[in-house]
Amino acid sequence: MVGSFLNVCIWRIPRDESLALPGSHCPRCNGPIGWYDNIPLVSFVWLAGRCRRCKAPIHWRYPLVEGLTAGLYLMTVLHSGIAIRTAFLLLFLSVLVVITFIDLDHGIIPHILTLPGIPLGLISSVLTFDPSPLEAVTGALVGAGLVYLIAVYAEVAFQQESMGGGDVTLLSMIGAFLGWRLMLVSFGFAVVSGACLSLGLIAAGVLSRKGRIPFGPFLALGAVVTLFAGDRVIDWYMSLFR
Ligand SMILES: [Zn+2]
Repeated sequence: MVGSFLNVCIWRIPRDESLALPGSHCPRCNGPIGWYDNIPLVSFVWLAGRCRRCKAPIHWRYPLVEGLTAGLYLMTVLHSGIAIRTAFLLLFLSVLVVITFIDLDHGIIPHILTLPGIPLGLISSVLTFDPSPLEAVTGALVGAGLVYLIAVYAEVAFQQESMGGGDVTLLSMIGAFLGWRLMLVSFGFAVVSGACLSLGLIAAGVLSRKGRIPFGPFLALGAVVTLFAGDRVIDWYMSLFR
């Protein structure tokens, strides 16, 4: 059900539409969607992926986001148990899901999603000490500074926009929630996976050399991978020096 709401956010936030009104409706025939046709995942199968009134196909993204959200929530509860920290992490992951698909569709990361996430991550650290408030504040500052410096450097060195302002606040939010160590691991993962995919797409002729792919989804993916496996990555890295 949260995933279903996140679909609404993904569609409406970049269009500056209200999240509450009007109620769910088909984007083609504008017909209202009854609650019985709006049950996450189930209705998609039940309606065979089509609007009941006009038979317009329902985008596969809707069940994908619903299933993805359910999977992330389940993993978080299995990983962190029933705890205050878990509640904050579920909010964090929800924001990451919305950001990922808005950035894929529109190439923007709305500050209205990332900016509230920064104090939210800091509050979580004060309440749970996981990470400590000092690590969270450092993470938020270093995360913002890192992307900002790279963006300025790329602008000067290559006269090309590399990362946008949304990436600055996004990595800052990731730092606030995960602390500076895991934030750096997230960023490293995002850079490596983003570069690999870009080179692959250029080699395959899908993307031109001057082409752009949004960086937000890679940061979000990096944060998710790090959230569940980051401590192991850091242990492994440190063991190289022992
Ligand atoms: Zn319709």
